Amino acid sequence: MNAPITLALSKGRIFEETLPLLAAAGIEVLEDPEKSRKLILPTSRPEVRVVLVRASDVPTYVQYGGADLGVAGKDSLIEHGGQGLFRPLDLRIAKCRVSVAVRADFDYAQAVRQGARLKVATKYTAIAREFFASKGVHVDLIKLYGSMELAPLTGLADAIVDLVSTGNTLKANHLVEVEPIMDISSHLVVNQAALKLKQAPLKRIIEAFASALAPA
Ligand code: AMP
Repeated sequence: MNAPITLALSKGRIFEETLPLLAAAGIEVLEDPEKSRKLILPTSRPEVRVVLVRASDVPTYVQYGGADLGVAGKDSLIEHGGQGLFRPLDLRIAKCRVSVAVRADFDYAQAVRQGARLKVATKYTAIAREFFASKGVHVDLIKLYGSMELAPLTGLADAIVDLVSTGNTLKANHLVEVEPIMDISSHLVVNQAALKLKQAPLKRIIEAFASALAPA
């Protein structure tokens, strides 16, 4: 019996965009997570299963061995800290950026110039703290878990730090992107102990993913 392999993915863009890479490794996921309520999905390879977790939990599952490997956004990896994770590949999927956004009528440039203390709401506190510290801007960070766009609209915060892809969500909520912080893509992460104990099958998956990547 081949060593069992557990892969952690999150639903949505990461799941969809990982499927072609799995196909290159000869792995087909046998159920559609949008139609099934199952959290453990079988694949065409009896020894390989997919577990569905929140995007921000993928690094934790892989760190503690709840999964042998996973696909995690750079945003989630930075917030997690990356301890205990081997990160062999930038998969160049689920691309977006982390940006600062404010209400269209808020003068961000002037607030920064005047050295005002900014109230910033975000799920990405590590990224925001490091970014504003590097600019020498004083911020009060307000941790949120979702719907960050509401914060400037309700007076909870002056600015948000959030993922932006097309910009449509910001536009629909009368917010403007004022400063990009970093480009984001998803990375393959592997549990370091699993990499030693299940070296051959994990190496095969890593190599198949690498050969199927979109051009840089
Ligand atoms: P958009 O309207 O295309 O700019 O997308 C922005 C919304 O989608 C925000 O609520 C983001 O949190 C979310 N989003 C955008 N790109 C990603 C991604 N790669 N992974 C997870 N969430 C994303």
